[in-house]
Amino acid sequence: MLKVLKFGGSSLSDSSQFAKVKDIVEYDDARQVVIVSAPGKRNSGDNKITDLLYLIHAHIKYGVNHENILSMVRDRYAEICRECGLSADIESMVNEVLGSLDKNASVDYIVSRGEYFCAVLMAEYLGFKFVDAADWLTFDYDGKVDNKLSAQKLRDIKDVYGRIVTPGFYGAFPNGEIHVFPRGGSDITGAIAAASLEADIYENWTDVSGILMVDPRIVKDPKTIARVTYDELRELSYMGASVLHEDTVFPVRLKDIPVNIRNTNAPEDPGTIIQESFDDELQEEHERFITGIAGKKDFSIINIYKSRIGDAKLGLLRQVLELFDRYDIPVEQIPSGVDSVSVLFPSESIKTKKYDLMHELKSNESIDSCELTEGISLIAIVGRQMAYRTGISGKIFKALGDNKINIRTIEQGADEINIMVGVYSEDFERTVRVLYDSFAM
Ligand code: ASP
Repeated sequence: MLKVLKFGGSSLSDSSQFAKVKDIVEYDDARQVVIVSAPGKRNSGDNKITDLLYLIHAHIKYGVNHENILSMVRDRYAEICRECGLSADIESMVNEVLGSLDKNASVDYIVSRGEYFCAVLMAEYLGFKFVDAADWLTFDYDGKVDNKLSAQKLRDIKDVYGRIVTPGFYGAFPNGEIHVFPRGGSDITGAIAAASLEADIYENWTDVSGILMVDPRIVKDPKTIARVTYDELRELSYMGASVLHEDTVFPVRLKDIPVNIRNTNAPEDPGTIIQESFDDELQEEHERFITGIAGKKDFSIINIYKSRIGDAKLGLLRQVLELFDRYDIPVEQIPSGVDSVSVLFPSESIKTKKYDLMHELKSNESIDSCELTEGISLIAIVGRQMAYRTGISGKIFKALGDNKINIRTIEQGADEINIMVGVYSEDFERTVRVLYDSFAM
């Protein structure tokens, strides 16, 4: 059994967080490969090491003295090192690496050091082998990860050392030059490592006990999603839920390795499991049917009428869609009636073109009238277990009807994992709460 673990910045922010990581790793013998981010904020007024490193780069580039920021970085690591009782001479290491950089120093190299120093300390603390990510995670010169080569190198290293700590967020081009992923990229490193080693599970340790069913700013203390499929995750993140982006874990998805989102501050919580599908599901166990609820504000609808349109509807629809294409407006939904078609889109996308667009529609002879309604919100009710089951949409509409919430649009994809309703934005939060209350309990 092999578990690959990635710890995010908040799990590594100080020595007490380091101690929690050690407990978690030592609790299970299968936890043999650890990927670390750079130390994050200790409190809301604090700074992330990575942000400080970006600042250091900017100072160097513009010739501004960066000693102040350098000492903030150095002190963070020195404190962790001291309080964890480690012997690494981290202060000299930080000074050497960041103290003598010239104007051309690469930003990727500088910011990657956050993870590097953190991994050096964590490796000593756990008694695992430190492995520089530059020694295994290899990028092609076009910036794509060379998966085959990276996997081979990591497997060889793991065979030799058994238990390793490696920094997240960066790797190297074939010439050794450091290259970083986008911000938050340690998640990707963890997924590549888990896929390369064909781990049994990829544990992604953070500061929440998994993915929440709904935005906690709208519903207080919502339940955690125990299991979610990639398709559901995609629907939820598309609709604005801040969940792990499915692209970041693509390498493990390809190999069908489950991802488990866990909380470093509450390791007893089982967290959320993300998987392609769950074949063992018993209906009785999952009577909730709904996986999550997510929503976005700021949509608009244009309703277009043409009386007795009949067979000509297709032509009208084509004309309207061509117009939206020409104006570069992304169409979200196209609800239609007997003599009308409506187009729903993000309000932002017509901000500067509103009057031109409406003018063009109104001067079209094949349209009787059209009107624009702004301030619409879309809410998605997502759940793989809704498919082929009767009564779910009935329950949704009853709950909204009982609470006098007017539904402006309704849509359900043919895969039946998502039902979307459009409501006036002033009803947005209330709609989310009503839906959560009727399904989560
Ligand atoms: N430390 C990097 C960042 O703050 C990468 C990561 O944490 O995943 O974006």
